[in-house]
Amino acid sequence: MKKLSSNIVWAVATLFILTVVFSFLIQSGPEPVALTINQLVEKVNNGDVAKIMISGQDIEVTLKDKTTSTLKKESEAPLTDTLKNLGVDTFELQKVALEVKDESGVRFWLGVLVPTLLPLIVIVAIFWFVFRQAKGGASQAFTFGKANIRLFTPFKDRVTFKDVAGLKEAKRELEEVVDFLKNPKKYLAIGARIPRGVLLMGSPGTGKTLLARAVAGEAGVPFFHISASEFVEMFVGVGASRTRDAFTTAKKAAPAILFIDEIDAVGRERGTGVGGGHDEREQTLNQILVEMDGFERDARLIVLAATNRPDVLDAALLRPGRFDRRVMLDLPDKKDREAILKIHARGKAFEKDIDLAKAATRTPGFSGADLANLLNEAAILAASKNQATILQEDVLNSVEKVLLGPARLGRVISDKERAVTAYHEAGHALVTASLKDTDPVHKVSIVSRGRAGGYTLKLPSDEQRLKTRTQFISELAAMLGGFVSEQETFGDVTTGASNDLKEASNLARSLVVKYGMSEKLGPMTFGNTQELIFLGREISHERNYSEQVASEIDREVSAFIQRAHLIAKKIITTRAKTLKVIADALLEKENLEQEEFDEIMKKSGLKPMAI
Ligand code: ADP
Ligand code: MG
Ligand code: ZN
Repeated sequence: MKKLSSNIVWAVATLFILTVVFSFLIQSGPEPVALTINQLVEKVNNGDVAKIMISGQDIEVTLKDKTTSTLKKESEAPLTDTLKNLGVDTFELQKVALEVKDESGVRFWLGVLVPTLLPLIVIVAIFWFVFRQAKGGASQAFTFGKANIRLFTPFKDRVTFKDVAGLKEAKRELEEVVDFLKNPKKYLAIGARIPRGVLLMGSPGTGKTLLARAVAGEAGVPFFHISASEFVEMFVGVGASRTRDAFTTAKKAAPAILFIDEIDAVGRERGTGVGGGHDEREQTLNQILVEMDGFERDARLIVLAATNRPDVLDAALLRPGRFDRRVMLDLPDKKDREAILKIHARGKAFEKDIDLAKAATRTPGFSGADLANLLNEAAILAASKNQATILQEDVLNSVEKVLLGPARLGRVISDKERAVTAYHEAGHALVTASLKDTDPVHKVSIVSRGRAGGYTLKLPSDEQRLKTRTQFISELAAMLGGFVSEQETFGDVTTGASNDLKEASNLARSLVVKYGMSEKLGPMTFGNTQELIFLGREISHERNYSEQVASEIDREVSAFIQRAHLIAKKIITTRAKTLKVIADALLEKENLEQEEFDEIMKKSGLKPMAI
């Protein structure tokens, strides 16, 4: 559509230019003066006229003083008759050079043709462009069943394992695939059955696509990339035909890798009817299965597929001989995050002693894609401040921006509100630092970001997978620290704590129903919860307990909260002096980095207490 309209604009512009050029051609030369026939008669009688040129109806009169004039005559009557009728002096007329010219000059033709042909040309041109467009559409319809497959040849933009940080186990698994593509004989001679399909599973942005390309790059074979969602069209059968086409193309280029991205788009369990339109998906899936079964052992085409929903995949896809290899891509740990940051720092101008490890520490839970994006944000930030290099603080600022949203520097806050925020955040920080088993405080800030009025950044020191009950209770207390601090300092609470309270309540409930950490209810889970595997979001919660147990659960949840509240209150009241020091420092500086905060805690001489 965009192309069509730009074509029309071009056509109209071209014609406009032509018109202007023609009109200049026609009107070249000085503007002649108009005469009436009577004036002409008078001039002839006075002997002023040197020459009269008649061309059709147009008469051009040249006077003796070289000026020219034009006039028109009646169409039928000869000019001389007209002049005679008006009483011209025949003697004088005989002295005038009379010339009759055929109307055949360029001027005549242009004069006649341009006005009549121009609209015609415009119309024809528009039709032509529209038609050409429609023809493109028609030929598109003919290639409908063709896969929109993208080919990356091995040596252009080559990606290798070196470009993929971390993911050690995944790489080790895939090295076999690379080796097979390079030395198939070794495997075939011994009668080994080579994997045909490898399924890469992992959260969005963990590098599935990147790793698949790296496999092709390592093996030096062509890489065909197609997204499974492109298989699915409005019409049943198109997906199957596209699948066939993709496999045929890739097989012709073997040894090669065919990468099917987001395979869950078609590979969902069949017959469930979830998601609608599953006829088309089923056919496409069946076709993929047929293709996977159909190629010979030495075809040397390896199909890689990626998904972040392995839980919904059809069992038939995972059967031996199809995607029987499964490679798990985890979110990077701190070391890997640093390595990923280093890879993406290439080609960016950083200050000399930049410490990417610090950024890695502050980004637990970030995927590779998040980290790549983080450095880009930092670069944009530095450029917008007209810096020549990217500074450490730009990187750390971007972490907070990605986590909490951009800083809202323009927001006007009253002094009272600022004080409340300072004491609220100081409360979180103090309770956190006063307890054992809590994560270190990395930053305290009263700069408003996103929806948060301020924030306390505390991050796990190393990726721990297991958490103890004591740690959870400490965490609950830290969450309530802000609320308690407001309450104790100002004798009142604000809405600023609502998000903390919500999170604390959710966590307390999880302790009871999910982790079996309530002493009264015992080591049991309650409710049947389905979660989206990598996204950690609940999609359904089914209640499988009685009313009585439900109220017991509520009591236990509230007991956890009360316990945490008491701990927070004890800390805030007994350490009120330090609370004030932190809050004052915040009011003065707005941000406290880890070192500054630790310094305050050290000066206060307070030790972490056990609960
Ligand atoms: P996925 O396909 O798993 O959603 P991608 O492979 O498309 O994720 O990753 C997106 C981008 O994130 C990559 O292009 C790369 O820049 C970056 N990235 C992700 N993981 C890594 C990694 N392990 N090492 C280096 N870069 C990575
Ligand atoms: Mg991807
Ligand atoms: Zn808070």
